[in-house]
Amino acid sequence: MADMTGPAPDGVSIRAVSKRYGTFAALDTVSLDVRKGEFLSILGPSGSGKSTLLGMLGGFVRPDSGTLWIDGRDVTLDAPHKRNIGIVFQNYALFPHLNVADNILFPLRARRVPKASWPERLRAALDMVELSGFAQRRITELSGGQRQRVALARAMIFEPTLILMDEPLSALDKQLRETMQIELKQLHARLAATIIYVTHDQREALTMSDRIAVMNKGRIVQLDTPIGLHDAPDNAFVAGFIGEATLLPVTRVGSHFVQLGDMVLATGRPVPVQGDLRLVLHPEKLALARQDDPLSGNRLRGTVTDTLFQGDSTRLFIRLASGERIAMRVSENHRERQHLSRPGDDVTLELHVQDTIVVPGGPG
Ligand code: ADP
Ligand code: MG
Repeated sequence: MADMTGPAPDGVSIRAVSKRYGTFAALDTVSLDVRKGEFLSILGPSGSGKSTLLGMLGGFVRPDSGTLWIDGRDVTLDAPHKRNIGIVFQNYALFPHLNVADNILFPLRARRVPKASWPERLRAALDMVELSGFAQRRITELSGGQRQRVALARAMIFEPTLILMDEPLSALDKQLRETMQIELKQLHARLAATIIYVTHDQREALTMSDRIAVMNKGRIVQLDTPIGLHDAPDNAFVAGFIGEATLLPVTRVGSHFVQLGDMVLATGRPVPVQGDLRLVLHPEKLALARQDDPLSGNRLRGTVTDTLFQGDSTRLFIRLASGERIAMRVSENHRERQHLSRPGDDVTLELHVQDTIVVPGGPG
């Protein structure tokens, strides 16, 4: 990423941090500003450097170069407990031999906070994660979701202004994960805290975040809002990682035109001048065009190969005239139902010019 100027007066400023293990660059000159109170996710595949970056903020990983600032203070060389950061890990890292209360109070003990304030703080922390009445329970008597709430309460009891979370929900089953996603969002809305949230799950990042930093191979490859990443990916890696896009090779035939087979498509943004180009096709952005419809976008010709009824929608698989196979989604309503295509039908698909996105680079 481009180097930024000085650190922000509040929030988190990461400036050109790098980390090598031997000759391998786990982090390569990463810079990032996280605003105070923001919910920012770091999203990327396994091994892309997410935990290394979070570990640096927490003080567990020493950068080879670069600086870290929290609320305008250079913390690059500070010990973890000096940074006033709450941390929640995937495996909870609770003490199994301590009960819920003693786990949650641990940071106050470690920071030598006067005991007089403990009962009130414990009550507030238990309330916050809806575990009032569980103070004396043993950790082993709790469900996965309850353990994760204890870990949250422990991370928040000393009222940190920054909370780091490293895949905190990935050990939970799907239903509980979705419940906890909503709870975490509500908690974030109530606290004024900044949350930096690591996940490899694009849906989770899209659901929860104000902004998302997408990482690949030790670098941030795009920083944007969920909608920005989805609708306007900067490169093939982001386009392939977010949503369910199919990426098709195209060639540039003008500043706002590309060719796919013998079809010429107008694009919403200028087409990059150099490199391999990919057209990004999201299933939900394609529509079946009808004879009587006025032309209102790009048209792609193809043949239906399969249909898959999915309850709220039907998925059509189509072989384009240019040879590639793509998927599209048709919503299940009466109008669409009447026109539903069958395998073997020739169809014309419509793609709005604004939704015709071309990005540089092959996948990966
Ligand atoms: P992520 O959290 O995105 O899955 P990590 O930040 O944990 O990725 O790791 C990034 C890369 O750095 C991985 O290839 C990992 O194997 C390597 N790595 C991380 N920590 C160490 C270490 N202590 N020693 C050697 N390699 C490491
Ligand atoms: Mg990790």
